[in-house]
Amino acid sequence: MKYLEEFSDPILAKRLVDDIHQTVTRPWAIMEVCGGQTHSIIRHALDQLLPAQIELIHGPGCPVCVTPLETIDKALEIASRPGVIFCSFGDMLRVPGSDRDLFRVKSAGGDVRVVYSPMDALTIARGNPGRQVVFFGIGFETTAPPNAMTVYQAKKLGIDNFSLLVSHVRVPPAIDAIMSSPSCRVQAFLAAGHVCTVMGTGEYPALAARHQVPIVVTGFEPLDILEGIRRTVGQLEAGRHEVENAYPRAVKDEGNPAALAMLRDVFEVVDRPWRGIGTIPDSGWRLSEAYRQYDAEYRFSVADLRVSESSACRSGEVLQGLIKPHQCEAFGTQCTPRNPLGATMVSSEGACAAYYLYRRLDVPAQSRPGQVTSVG
Ligand code: SF4
Repeated sequence: MKYLEEFSDPILAKRLVDDIHQTVTRPWAIMEVCGGQTHSIIRHALDQLLPAQIELIHGPGCPVCVTPLETIDKALEIASRPGVIFCSFGDMLRVPGSDRDLFRVKSAGGDVRVVYSPMDALTIARGNPGRQVVFFGIGFETTAPPNAMTVYQAKKLGIDNFSLLVSHVRVPPAIDAIMSSPSCRVQAFLAAGHVCTVMGTGEYPALAARHQVPIVVTGFEPLDILEGIRRTVGQLEAGRHEVENAYPRAVKDEGNPAALAMLRDVFEVVDRPWRGIGTIPDSGWRLSEAYRQYDAEYRFSVADLRVSESSACRSGEVLQGLIKPHQCEAFGTQCTPRNPLGATMVSSEGACAAYYLYRRLDVPAQSRPGQVTSVG
C-alpha cells in the first residue's frame, strides 16, 4: 500500500537497527507512550531487533485501558436506562466494568449501538427526538477534537437529546506523573505522533528539561519507531535531553490550530483518574460551563458509584511499565481477549492484547492465535 510499505522497508530498517547497535554502549529504558506504538513494536518484533541493552517499556497510551472503572460503570448505568440509546466505538463494549460489560447490557435489552464517529450518534439523536442519545467520548488528544466538534454542532443545531459521557485524558501530565514516581525506570520517551499532530510539541520542552529526559515525537510504522529509537539512543548516549520531531510528515510544532481552538472552546482542563494508575492533576478534559448541559454525567445524575476491580488483574502495573503483560499470573490463562479480566486485554491498543496476539511468551500453545512477524 502506497505510503505504508515504504515505512516497512527491510533494507532501511536494517540500516537503522545497525546504527542503533553501533551507538549503544550501556543499558537504557525507553518508554513508548502510545498503545498503537506498542502494537507495532510487538507485531513487527522490533524489540527483538534491538541491542539487549535497550528495554522498551510499554506506556499508558491506550485510551480504552485508562478509562476509569467508575466511568465504565457510569456508562453501564446510563445504557441500562429505559429510553436511552447508548452509542460507542466497538472496543468499549467488552471492557469489563465492576460486574458486567456493555455487551451484557445490550443482551439484557439495552439499546447499545456501535458507531464509527460521534457525528453518527448525533445523526441518531436527530432521528430519535423522543429518546436520549449518549455518545461515550473517551480517548486522548486525538479523539477529543471530533467529540468537541459534535457537542458544538449539537448546541448550534439545537439538538437537546444528545449528550457526551466524557473521559478524555492528556499525555503530557501523564509523562510528568510517570517521571515523578519513585519507582520510575524510564530514561526517555517516544512521544505519540498523532497526539502531537493535534497538540503540537509546545508542552514537551519544559518536561524534557524538568526531568532531564529526551522526548522524541515518533510515528507508528516500523521505520518511524526505529528512527525514534535511533534518535532517542543518540541523545541518551550523548547526555542530551531535548525534544525532537521524528514524525515531521504529520507533526508541526504548532499542532492543528483549528482543532486546538475547538478544544479550548468546548472543554476545560481538570484532574482525571486513570484506570490502574490513579488521579493525575490536570490530565483530562470535561465539558466547559457553556456546554455543561451536554454532559451525560450531569444529565443522568450518575455519581459516586461503588466500583470493584478484579483482584487478579495487574493492568495498573502494566500501564506504568512496572511489569510486562506476561508477568501477570492471569495472562493467557484466566485472562484472554475472549475472556478479559482487564481493559489492557480488550483494547486494540492494549499491551496485554498485543502480547497475546503477537508473542508466545508463557502462553500455552493451544491458545496462541497469532504469528510473530518481523520487518519485511
Ligand atoms: S493479563 Fe489480563 S489480568 Fe493480567 S494485567 Fe493484563 S488484563 Fe489484567
